[in-house]
Amino acid sequence: TVGAVALDQDGNLAAATSTGGLKNQLKGRISDSPIVGGGTYANNEVCAVSCTGEGELIMRGVLAHEVYALTKYAGEELQHASEKTVKMYKKLLKGDMGLVALNPKGEVGFGFNTNIMRRGYSINGETLAIAIWDDESL
Ligand code: ASP
Repeated sequence: TVGAVALDQDGNLAAATSTGGLKNQLKGRISDSPIVGGGTYANNEVCAVSCTGEGELIMRGVLAHEVYALTKYAGEELQHASEKTVKMYKKLLKGDMGLVALNPKGEVGFGFNTNIMRRGYSINGETLAIAIWDDESL
């Protein structure tokens, strides 16, 4: 997976997630990446989120939406919501996962439970983009 979240000069947030899937996956498997709320979520007023890791777990936890919900409805800081989401679902679902999030203020949230999740960023004018990718196939 390579996932990214971005904030542009007009305050628009976006999330995008691309994946090659998992090793030995079933034919026709779609994965969490294109599922809104699962591997990807963005809402201009709250945050944009992109996830990587074991897609079946990410879908069951609806992880990207969970970060959004903790931020919007529980008033959590983005970094706290990101860490908490991964921690909560690691316990419940027992798998590797990571996510990156960005809010309209340009604050970033990272959550991951394995060191194979790499992160990076780019600033171009007033546009900020944060990426996450796993450097091994899970
Ligand atoms: N989430 C992806 C999937 O389950 C895998 C990945 O993140 O590399 O297809």
